[in-house]
Amino acid sequence: MIAHTQTLFGSMALVAVITGICLILAGQFNRRDGTLTIGLGMLSHALAYICFTLFGQASLWVSYALGNTLLSTALALYCLSIPLIRGHHPPWRLVLAFPVLQLLLLTLLIDTQAPRQLVACAVLLSQCAIIMRYSLRYALPNGRAHRVLIIGCLISLAGLGIRVVVILSGAPVEMHYDVSNLKQTISIAIGAVTIIMLSFGLVLMSRERIEADLQKTALRDPLTGTENRMSILHNLEEEVARSRRSGTPLSIAMLDLDYFKQINDRYGHLAGDHVLRHCVQHLQQRLRSTDKLGRYGGEEFLLILHGTDALGALDLVDDLRQSLARNPAQIGDTQIPISFSAGICSFTPTEEIDVTNMLLRADTALYKAKNSGRNTQVLADTI
Ligand code: GH3
Ligand code: MG
Ligand code: MG
Repeated sequence: MIAHTQTLFGSMALVAVITGICLILAGQFNRRDGTLTIGLGMLSHALAYICFTLFGQASLWVSYALGNTLLSTALALYCLSIPLIRGHHPPWRLVLAFPVLQLLLLTLLIDTQAPRQLVACAVLLSQCAIIMRYSLRYALPNGRAHRVLIIGCLISLAGLGIRVVVILSGAPVEMHYDVSNLKQTISIAIGAVTIIMLSFGLVLMSRERIEADLQKTALRDPLTGTENRMSILHNLEEEVARSRRSGTPLSIAMLDLDYFKQINDRYGHLAGDHVLRHCVQHLQQRLRSTDKLGRYGGEEFLLILHGTDALGALDLVDDLRQSLARNPAQIGDTQIPISFSAGICSFTPTEEIDVTNMLLRADTALYKAKNSGRNTQVLADTI
């Protein structure tokens, strides 16, 4: 089916204007999520197609040079929105150099036919390749946005490739914007798919980033930056299931800072907060990559020691306790000594024990550690 080329350009311009305005309105309150940049890109895309509809009626500079420069500007804005969405500083100058180059080269070559068409395609092809590179680098690797953007870029490269082949085969006139033929219809339809996929992929990427941020916030303790209670308990469920499957031992330790209330009373709550952050930082530096630490309550922490039996856990917690005692928190010139008591519970996969039971036993052992004078660790009784 052969469609009327200029009607196609007009329809695409209308769709791009509406989508662009919607994105600009949605993105104006949050410039850093990239939505505003994507919306401006769509408006530029729409203006480019409006220029193309004027081919044969307005001057070549408007209908060709300006049109393709606006198309390059749209691709540059899409490109910039990718690092913006991920919270990175975009390379403004590098990306915006492409539309400037497009304008300069097309102004110089405006009176030629095949060379100006090839130059326009070459600049757009380079920009699509950069968008693809940025998508590979910044979009979440297993996310849907990643796939949509890569496919969008590949389709766009194919569409531009068709134009280049037709021009190089000696029929540049077939690619004039006022000529309607099958190649034009296919090439412009591919352009339409590209706009939809790129804009949809970018909006999806922005959403995926917001979702990832929210998830991260929901699982982190805001004061110490370590996992919060919900997250560490979820991890414990997973670790118990993993140990059952693999037959590896697993230990947990419930840590509670000693006389923490006195620290608050003596130095103030802000100093108390600083002590909590110091403890987490210190413990995290000494833990293995497979161990997990979470804030279970006010000044209580839960430690999950993967692949560690009871003796290993006792040794490790003893090391942590002594090392924290050697490294007091520092506030100005004041040093605040810290110690903790710990209750340890170990699990061998043959035992019939669940998460609640493990926590209960670790808590009972912690209570014993407190009662035996604090600054020590106690191993829970086996069932
Ligand atoms: P013990 O050795 O028996 O554990 O004594 P303790 O003083 O540590 O225990 P207690 O449970 O009496 O006090 C815990 C204190 O921790 C009380 C509470 O105000 C304080 N706390 C809980 N969460 C925070 C926090 O986020 N920041 C600060 N600064 N203090 C907190
Ligand atoms: Mg305490
Ligand atoms: Mg406590």
